[in-house]
Amino acid sequence: MTTEGRSFLVVNLKDIVPEELILRSKGKCMASEVFYTSVSQTDGTEIIQEQLHKLLLASQLLDGVNCDERVVLKIHFGEEGNKGFVKPEYTRVIIDKVKERGGVPILSDTNTLYRGRRTNSKDHLELAAEHGFTEEGTGAKIFIPENAEENNVMLPSEHKFIKNAKVAKVYIEADHLINISHFKGHIMTGFGGALKNIGMGCAAREGKLEQHSGMAPLVDHENCVGCEACYEACPAEAITISDKKSYINEERCIGCASCIAACEYSAIDVDWNSGENTIQEKMVEYAKAVLDKKSGQVVHINFAIKITKECDCLAQDDPRICPDIGILMSTDPVSVDKACYDLVVQRCGQDIFKKVHPERDGMKQLLYSASLGVGALEYRLIEV
Ligand code: SF4
Ligand code: SF4
Repeated sequence: MTTEGRSFLVVNLKDIVPEELILRSKGKCMASEVFYTSVSQTDGTEIIQEQLHKLLLASQLLDGVNCDERVVLKIHFGEEGNKGFVKPEYTRVIIDKVKERGGVPILSDTNTLYRGRRTNSKDHLELAAEHGFTEEGTGAKIFIPENAEENNVMLPSEHKFIKNAKVAKVYIEADHLINISHFKGHIMTGFGGALKNIGMGCAAREGKLEQHSGMAPLVDHENCVGCEACYEACPAEAITISDKKSYINEERCIGCASCIAACEYSAIDVDWNSGENTIQEKMVEYAKAVLDKKSGQVVHINFAIKITKECDCLAQDDPRICPDIGILMSTDPVSVDKACYDLVVQRCGQDIFKKVHPERDGMKQLLYSASLGVGALEYRLIEV
């Protein structure tokens, strides 16, 4: 349906999720507006920038930014070798809009649990610069919290798993939070977008650990050749090698999955029967803690472009698993992720995330978020 140049699509959720849950979600939140522009990487950077600009104008979602207000843009700068992260050229368009409103932008990410070039702020900043995220390139200061002082906000949470969410201060202290996410598959959560970029992405290292723990992987000794790559990759000294076989100490393991990525012999995998999917619920409880604190000050922008099997923490280029969808924007993280998911399923003709990660159901994060009132599963898609 088209009204005044905008296309509207109301998704029939009854075909996708249980009716009872839709009603629960509806009771807490009305259907949210999700603004959408269809773009593909093959359109080229300038066209994508132009479409993004139009999306920002049409949605008016950044119009709440006022003069001298601090606006933190949460992004993932991409692991070394990764090519799926949201490009600095696109980030620049959002930053220009913030500055046009008189806001003071800060571009930020947190350090990782796993060992790599994003483990500490110095290396992380260098890598971000190599990926084009500099103050000259983007127009915003780049900030990666490092010490305890910068990571010390405790947000109360009264849900199933999390009692105190440990979050980096910059995301809480800023007047506005713009959540810029690459929508893609994920080994632990099936897929990841706005909810993951807030829940896991804004967490201090201690908070990431809290969300990942209880997920020690298993070693298949038939495949293990004792090459020690997992031992070298482990940030928690949880791995020992004995008689050319790897052993994981579950007490020490922080569930960061670095060893899975390091093993070239497919000898390490997640123990899917142990603590299965609790990471999604914990992540959602973290997201809720952050969003409750920042009520009305958060805008979510999902880039469903170069949709990959794994997340941008993968230290290599990862091929597309779905044709490009475009850019989606909303004040509701559940709706914007659900809209991305629905469009991916529609475009692929199947749930491609379930196909590439059969042990994971990413819908769990959306259903749990809706049940906690984080956002609505039902949405109105407004094409710009
Ligand atoms: S990386 Fe894989 S093959 Fe090498 S020691 Fe670890 S589990 Fe074994
Ligand atoms: S054993 Fe594997 S998952 Fe556990 S901390 Fe070490 S690298 Fe991370």
